[in-house]
Amino acid sequence: MNVGNCPHCGKLYALNVMGCCPTCLREIEQQYVDCAEYLRKHRGANVQELSDETGVSIKQITRFIKEGRISVVDAPNLMLPCEVCGTSIREGHMCESCRSRLSKDLSSAAREVSQGEGRSLGAGAYRAIDKSGRS
Ligand SMILES: [Zn+2]
Ligand SMILES: [Zn+2]
Repeated sequence: MNVGNCPHCGKLYALNVMGCCPTCLREIEQQYVDCAEYLRKHRGANVQELSDETGVSIKQITRFIKEGRISVVDAPNLMLPCEVCGTSIREGHMCESCRSRLSKDLSSAAREVSQGEGRSLGAGAYRAIDKSGRS
């Protein structure tokens, strides 16, 4: 049996497809039920309102949306914040402008790498890519 640390509570648990321990799983299920229930009654709710009313963190709500459990079709005002600038977006991690800026950064960094091949510059550019890709 494979065991690992639950990403939510840090406790050791038997690994499963849900990626967290049974205790947290139940808690998340309950949060989902609360969110779904609230959205049924308030179709126009946004993420902030949903979080305030259900006590579920925006991060968790974002996860439900990304997992497709909460549909933005059913909740037209449920937008996600861009992880870079906070602009409301409907899908993904970043808004269009941050995405295009990042891909521009990446391609210019890649150019620097190829120009600076064999020189110490390359290592710095790699670090820059790593940092922006993670945020
Ligand atoms: Zn847990
Ligand atoms: Zn953005």
